[in-house]
Amino acid sequence: MGDGQGTVALIVAAGKGERMGGATPKQYAQLAGKPVVCHSIDRLLAMPQVDGVRVVIAGDHAARYQDAIGGRVLSSPVVGGDSRRESVAAGLAAVAADGGAARVLIHDAARPLVSEAVVARLLAALETHDGAVPVLPVADTLARRAADLGDVVARDALVRVQTPQAFRFDAVKRSHDAWDGTHEATDDAQMVRALGGAVAMVEGDSALEKLTYPEDYAMAEARLSAPVSFRTGTGFDVHRLAEGEELWLGGIRIDHDKGLAGHSDADVALHALTDALLGAIGAGDIGAHFPPSDPQWRAARSDRFLAHAAALVAARGGRIEHVDLTIICEAPRIGPHREAMRERIAAILQLGQDRVSVKATTTEGLGYTGRGEGIAAQAAATVRIGG
Ligand code: MG
Repeated sequence: MGDGQGTVALIVAAGKGERMGGATPKQYAQLAGKPVVCHSIDRLLAMPQVDGVRVVIAGDHAARYQDAIGGRVLSSPVVGGDSRRESVAAGLAAVAADGGAARVLIHDAARPLVSEAVVARLLAALETHDGAVPVLPVADTLARRAADLGDVVARDALVRVQTPQAFRFDAVKRSHDAWDGTHEATDDAQMVRALGGAVAMVEGDSALEKLTYPEDYAMAEARLSAPVSFRTGTGFDVHRLAEGEELWLGGIRIDHDKGLAGHSDADVALHALTDALLGAIGAGDIGAHFPPSDPQWRAARSDRFLAHAAALVAARGGRIEHVDLTIICEAPRIGPHREAMRERIAAILQLGQDRVSVKATTTEGLGYTGRGEGIAAQAAATVRIGG
């Protein structure tokens, strides 16, 4: 840190708003045994993608903050301003004074249940954009407020924007420096867009809802106290090597004198991974979801199958903790392609690359893989349910 590298999380906890019915500002209210702000601090610090955390607090909350963080060893808090924008600007100035960063996550303390999956999606989008925000669709009917009920607003065109919002540090710092201060921005993404920056939308998380009403605390408590279980699934697949086929393996195309034949693009590695994920949630196998007899899957890219399995995991409240793949063949050599495969699989699953393992082995010339008749792959996936 301190050389314009890495990712810093800026947690904005400078609000004066009190939890309804209490005298404690909501970021310091207790949630499942610790202050609300500490949930974001602990979660963000535990993420391998995050190199440091700075917390922006209200000027008269210094004692409350110290009391809240207890024995945690953190950079000193930054004193915010009267508006959220001024508080973020103060946080960005503090990061800049420490030597800057490559990326910054700007997060509201009132959204304590930030997950690594969302952060991974945001940071992946920063590869091609100046900023990225998590969004969720609007489920309720929306209408304009009037003396009576006004016109309904088409909700397909609307999304709910959450935090953390991720930015290239220079882009968001520049947008704050350039803001004339005569009016307030709704959020940092709008400020970056005002300077012509491109901001991507990635899938948000219902667990990231802002704590606003007493029932929000009850729901967050329930999520945090739900029992956590870990499930492991395995997958295995074999495809035949044939002349005149492209070789797709681990989500990438490899130059080779033969390719894999069969269902879809026959990416045996992604098929094994798909089955491992389906296995972890007891959701059948790849053939049940994408029957080989169905012509629509004949030339399909297997990344769709893997993304579908990941969506099923998410729909069941699961999070993928880790996947581990072993490719079994004599040729091609996997080593030169291992990192590209990890990167591609991590992108499909929207995981940090450290959660994706790709290994390879031969069978010492024995059997069908040894004779080069086909390639086999086996995979394991660990899924966390709850928590
Ligand atoms: Mg297959």
